[in-house]
Amino acid sequence: NAPLAEVDPEIAEVLGLELGRQRGTLEMIASENFVPRAILETQGSVLTNKYAEGYPGRRYYGGCEHVDVAENLAIERAKTLFGAEFANVQPHAGAQANVAVMEALMEPGDTLMGLSLDHGGHLTHGMPLNFSGRRHKIVAYEVDRETFRIDMDKVREQALAERPDVIVAGWSAYPRQLDFEAFASIAQEVGAKLWVDMAHFAGLVAAGLHANPVPHADVVSSTVHKTLAGPRSGFILAKESYGKKLNSRVFPGQQGGPLMHAIAGKAVAFKIAASEEFKRRQQRTLEGAQILAERLMGSDVAEHGVTVLSGGTDVHLVLVDLRNSELDGKQGENILDEVGITVNRNSVPWDPRPPMTTSGLRIGTPALATRGFGTKEFTEVADIIAQALKPNPDVDALRARTEKLADDFPLYEGYENW
Ligand code: PLP
Repeated sequence: NAPLAEVDPEIAEVLGLELGRQRGTLEMIASENFVPRAILETQGSVLTNKYAEGYPGRRYYGGCEHVDVAENLAIERAKTLFGAEFANVQPHAGAQANVAVMEALMEPGDTLMGLSLDHGGHLTHGMPLNFSGRRHKIVAYEVDRETFRIDMDKVREQALAERPDVIVAGWSAYPRQLDFEAFASIAQEVGAKLWVDMAHFAGLVAAGLHANPVPHADVVSSTVHKTLAGPRSGFILAKESYGKKLNSRVFPGQQGGPLMHAIAGKAVAFKIAASEEFKRRQQRTLEGAQILAERLMGSDVAEHGVTVLSGGTDVHLVLVDLRNSELDGKQGENILDEVGITVNRNSVPWDPRPPMTTSGLRIGTPALATRGFGTKEFTEVADIIAQALKPNPDVDALRARTEKLADDFPLYEGYENW
């Protein structure tokens, strides 16, 4: 029972350094968040030892009576939180949830219609090297060239022409809400199934601040670790009629033993997501993204070719458009890193620069909202980012401002052993 620092000092050092990095910088990667202590405890628990192939009450291993309770709680809480008839909480991650959905809704060779990766879609929505693209014929829809928004008339035209078997609505980098009703009506018109991947915005849905796809979609997949702020993992919601098939496509179709420590962590995350405090946090998340978008559309940055794609945001992220700036996405990512803000560069649709450089930045507010940031702090962060993206920024002065914010909102106080 020796502690990690004794058993493996090199890995202990990694944990210590990463804790320091998370504490000392401002995390603005749109897909990241900070789990609460309760979830760290669950994930670092003895549940990691337990094999539990199968489903609660129908396991292929003995000794599952306690983990069954955890999985049933996760299932029931997920169903209640999102108003779903069925939930599977076993997918190890978002990508695994998506494989199971594709396996349940379509056959190899069937046509999948999803948002193009370059326009904000996810790898699992039809990228040629991914399972989705290798197993299926892919039809990619795009955003409109003028508005940078998805134009549902064009989606309909394309769906009528291509007759996909499944349409996937969802994104990894898109700053607007999707029209699930319109997607459902198009799917119905062309005889396709509708799959919504709400990985990014599930927390906003749980808080009632984003349209809920569950009533409109045949199947909804998600991650738990982005706006939902739970353990790194996935889950699937659906109408009851798809339940048996989805269960079988997760296990034994694709996975073996479920990660019971992660599943217990999902139960905790769904419980927290039903709270008023969580709702207020999601409100601060949205407000922070709007403050950032407004600031980055200001004339002082516009003068240097910096602006915001689609003219704003109604979710938890902002896509910074650097097509007309001398600064490219990689340089933008680096300069923000130097001032203590972590973001990721991102291609913009029809990006004139190559994928390793890009002309965009994806900046999200969920992690800082979890850290406690409100209007005042997001206003300060937005200004730091705006100043950093202008020519010749005073890096030291900006770095001092981010350090002050980080110090004012301590993270994981009292914990040194992770
Ligand atoms: N779906 C969407 C829309 C995502 O943005 C992501 C992750 O970025 C995933 C699925 C995959 O999740 P994971 O990284 O947990 O496999």
